[in-house]
Amino acid sequence: MDKKYIPQLGDTISRLGYGCMRFPTNEDGSMNYDEAEKLIRKGYEMGINYFDTAVVYHKGDSEKVLSRALKDYDRSTYYLADKMSLGVVNSEEEVHKLFYQQLDNFHTDYIDYYLVHALNRNNWKKAKEMKTVEFLQEMKRQGKIRHLGFSFHDTEPILKEIISEYDWDFTQIQLNYLDWKAMHADRLYQVLVDHNLPCMVMEPVRGGYLANLNETCNAKLNALDPNASIASWAVRFVSSLDNVAVVLSGMSSEEQLMDNCATFSAFNPLSEKELAVISDVTDEMLKLNDIPCTGCRYCMDCPKGVDIPAIFSIYAQWKVFGKAERFVNGYEGAINNGYSATNCVKCGLCAKKCPQMIDIPNQLARVHQFYLEEKAKLDAAKADV
Ligand code: SF4
Ligand code: SF4
Repeated sequence: MDKKYIPQLGDTISRLGYGCMRFPTNEDGSMNYDEAEKLIRKGYEMGINYFDTAVVYHKGDSEKVLSRALKDYDRSTYYLADKMSLGVVNSEEEVHKLFYQQLDNFHTDYIDYYLVHALNRNNWKKAKEMKTVEFLQEMKRQGKIRHLGFSFHDTEPILKEIISEYDWDFTQIQLNYLDWKAMHADRLYQVLVDHNLPCMVMEPVRGGYLANLNETCNAKLNALDPNASIASWAVRFVSSLDNVAVVLSGMSSEEQLMDNCATFSAFNPLSEKELAVISDVTDEMLKLNDIPCTGCRYCMDCPKGVDIPAIFSIYAQWKVFGKAERFVNGYEGAINNGYSATNCVKCGLCAKKCPQMIDIPNQLARVHQFYLEEKAKLDAAKADV
């Protein structure tokens, strides 16, 4: 397993990290402890030394099985990453209690990488109300946390706001070659580079979506190397980026684990030619999106608070990935947070500033109409069940 020294952290981390959220399950949906434990131990034996979990993964069973699987190994030979999941705590006391419970769960005095989990504009507000970061900084001063960071799911301005308010050691973002262009993940990555924050990568294969593309795209990648799996291009893409410290993969089978370990056993960054083919494959997939927003934000700020690039990004995600439910949920998040297309009064200020010449007010109205239609379909499907 190839390992990488991260100077800002002083740690040497395996390029592949074990994301402990997708272990094999039983028929009733509960985690299969024995299978999960076998996978973790196999991963460790293959050289993985970074294990990322959270109390909400597998309803708490992920932390438990990870603790059980790692108990026989020397504590100094692996890095444990755990999180303050804001969905399960509602007060300062509960934040403190969960953290100490996690130390207990792992029978350890310290957690190497501790993250405030899944920050977005809502969670960030909640984290601040509960003085979460102040408490975790104190835990770091006491040596109970070695490195403090956060995982992130929102837009560039929110990322900059969070980074500017506290001293962080690292950040975890969703990064893969499709999001690089479709969701403007390149900008999030650049913010981390600018702030010298090592980047932990989640969703390198986009929840499995980039493990098997359409026929044309698969053929383009197979022409580069018929022996390489389609997923391996995705993990190589992110690990080739200089500021990436570790690539987390939620491996649910030995086959996936072995494929990833093979990719990282003697890591080979992508060549210029390979990068060009991946860019071409991404463009092929992005053709499915008909609003050519690049996320440049020249159209902002809208006087009515519409986050135009965020709305177009939610729409692009639907067109490219075809997940209607995610589109509806994402758009409802925008409504609840006051930045959806419903606020638009069609003043036209934004459209004058758009280098892509997008007819923004009408495209926003169109996205809103799609939302209403898709929501109606989902509601009807639920009523049928
Ligand atoms: S047209 Fe709509 S989105 Fe654009 S600036 Fe005016 S109110 Fe905001
Ligand atoms: S100016 Fe145009 S391309 Fe840029 S973010 Fe706004 S809508 Fe997208």
